[in-house]
Amino acid sequence: MSESIFKLGQGLVQISQAQITERVAELGRQIRDDYATTTPHLICVLNGAFIFMADLVRAIDSPLTVDFLSVSSYGSRTETSGEVRLVKDLDQSLKGRHVILVEDIVDTGLTMRYLLNYLQGRGPVSVKVAALLSKPSRRQVEVPLHYLGFEIDDAFVYGYGLDVDHQYRNLPFVTSQRG
Ligand code: 5GP
Repeated sequence: MSESIFKLGQGLVQISQAQITERVAELGRQIRDDYATTTPHLICVLNGAFIFMADLVRAIDSPLTVDFLSVSSYGSRTETSGEVRLVKDLDQSLKGRHVILVEDIVDTGLTMRYLLNYLQGRGPVSVKVAALLSKPSRRQVEVPLHYLGFEIDDAFVYGYGLDVDHQYRNLPFVTSQRG
């Protein structure tokens, strides 16, 4: 996986559309195989994961169901405070379901820890995590990442669903290039 990440100088991250497509297809095949005997329930964390989710579900060539939730974290735009607020709840019950939580990026891990606790309380049979990106050097709490697209350095990235001030989500690639 390491050769699929270009580090253009210190902390600069660039992941191309082709690299994302290839990796998402791999994750889709892995999930299809891992859930061959059951129907997984994929939960998209809005807004950042909406494009990853849309591509990932189409890369899973077997039955599944989807739901969406939205959280907002207190604190500055680029720094999570650890306090997370649910702003859109799930529509469907998790009782008896095999859940896959789909996130855009895991940074400190605080948002993911909150979400995992929240979901576990709703009675699923299992909960796994699919994340497009992870910044391991930034982690404050350990969280499981069962399906991971790419590990990146500590840089603020955007594109492919991730924003800068609500913009740039529609870029088909991920970058940290500014200006
Ligand atoms: P954590 O709670 O893991 O620190 O932060 C997770 C959330 O912070 C992500 O879901 C995302 O909304 C935001 N975030 C963290 N790093 C980045 C980044 O590099 N770019 C963007 N656009 N959002 C980020």
